[in-house]
Amino acid sequence: MKIAALSVAIITASPSNVPAASVLNAQAIPVVLNETMPYASFSVIHSGAAMLYVNQLPTANGITVCVNAGHGTKGGESQKTLSHPDGSPKVTGGTTSAGAVKSTAVSGGMTFSDGVSEASVALKEAVILKGLLLNSGYNVLMIREGADVQLDNVARTVLANKYAQCHISLHWDSTASNKGAFYCKVPSNPSYKAMEPVRSTWAMSDLLGENLISGLRTAGRKIHGTGSMEIDLTQTSYSTIPSVDIELGDKASDHSDAALNNIAMGLLTGINSYFGR
Ligand SMILES: [Zn+2]
Repeated sequence: MKIAALSVAIITASPSNVPAASVLNAQAIPVVLNETMPYASFSVIHSGAAMLYVNQLPTANGITVCVNAGHGTKGGESQKTLSHPDGSPKVTGGTTSAGAVKSTAVSGGMTFSDGVSEASVALKEAVILKGLLLNSGYNVLMIREGADVQLDNVARTVLANKYAQCHISLHWDSTASNKGAFYCKVPSNPSYKAMEPVRSTWAMSDLLGENLISGLRTAGRKIHGTGSMEIDLTQTSYSTIPSVDIELGDKASDHSDAALNNIAMGLLTGINSYFGR
């Protein structure tokens, strides 16, 4: 495991979705995995760095949100990590089937009906959300800011656990019915819910998920069913902080700039309400 030197840079960003007057000021600090971090030894891909943006606005609130653009790790599909830290098998299906002791380190993600990759749309959404969060006073941990980051799902989660107060990964589902958004709720399986760190975090993760869905609903987004589906994920299996994988639509969903901006507003509303702001 390599420990990269900390390099610090002051960045000024002005995303297209915010008025030019509200220029963002943040200190950008690359962060990497090290072996002292809980569960770091379960990661198999961790040579990359995430970027921690420390808010410099007078309105900075000291809360760090991890924004994890799903997928985007070259070679991630050919490696595996333990589905659960205690070595027990997955309790539901997903990208990796129920019963599997090991899961794909990072899957490739789907392709929208119009040929655009989920990974690229998730990244675009993450960048928009980052702008809104920084403008609102949050610090942001960006897991990925390019097409490829060498951090598997375990490493992403370990970094979020270390640096953030909540972890939100952005995805679109692989169906093609434009079924709407939902979050992956922690499965109601007694042994899974009794396993740490799930035991200590599942209730907060579900509450965060409910807040995100209600924010999206407020923004006018289409919601699938009750807004949640029980899925056993590597992310929630290793999270020591409230952690949600949110599926913002599927292959048939509108992923225009207008839609992505609207979704980001909904997510911000949900994050604000979760933190009582
Ligand atoms: Zn996905």
